[in-house]
Amino acid sequence: MCRHLAWLGRPRSLASLVLEPPSSLLVQSWAPRRQRYGTVNADGWGVGFWADGRLARWRSPRPLWADPSFASVAPVLRSGCVVAAVRSATVGMPLEEGAAAPFTDGRALLSHNGRVSLDALPASRAAESTVDSALLAALVFQRGLDAIGDVVREVAAADPAARLNLIAADGRRLLATTWGDTLCVLVTDEGTALASEPWDDDPAWSDVPDHTLVEVTPDGVRLTPLDHPEPPA
Ligand code: GLN
Repeated sequence: MCRHLAWLGRPRSLASLVLEPPSSLLVQSWAPRRQRYGTVNADGWGVGFWADGRLARWRSPRPLWADPSFASVAPVLRSGCVVAAVRSATVGMPLEEGAAAPFTDGRALLSHNGRVSLDALPASRAAESTVDSALLAALVFQRGLDAIGDVVREVAAADPAARLNLIAADGRRLLATTWGDTLCVLVTDEGTALASEPWDDDPAWSDVPDHTLVEVTPDGVRLTPLDHPEPPA
């Protein structure tokens, strides 16, 4: 399982989100604290963010610790809406920059923490890679971010073993799902963070229950239970 995070709030540096905290995504790339599947997240990384009204993205097929140029630039890149991830590739999936989250259709970002059978996903020419996560992202982009909970339920019905923790952003809000793995939320005066696991020991982090839809806007955080899929007949 990969580790991912998102931020919506006052603009802050990418370094303060991804590199500097004591258990940052950088540290989680070799020593995650709450990862249930996989051990390290060294198969690529990515960060997408809005700045000056534009969506920008930086991804790499290398471990995050092996991209020192990002570490030199990240302190001066600032954004109020960010999605970032470090990747632990699922066996059989391609190892390439295009397979690293976050994925985009040019308007929104999406990161997937989990795995899903390719048989449970429609083929898509819009997908950025043949990795399961890119096909899932293309499906969400095609259906629209508001359908993210429906897409998770439908894909889980087609593959009951799927793990479908998603984070999506459109520059003004975050949408996330928990389906098989951890997600934590931190609300501060400056904004709201979502993360697979806390990046520090602040007691204000709280766990999102499994099978939940999370919506983060400047007005607050809303959690809605996602129904379990119908068991196969
Ligand atoms: N299945 C996705 C991949 O191979 C995500 C893996 C993960 O969450 N570790 O990249």
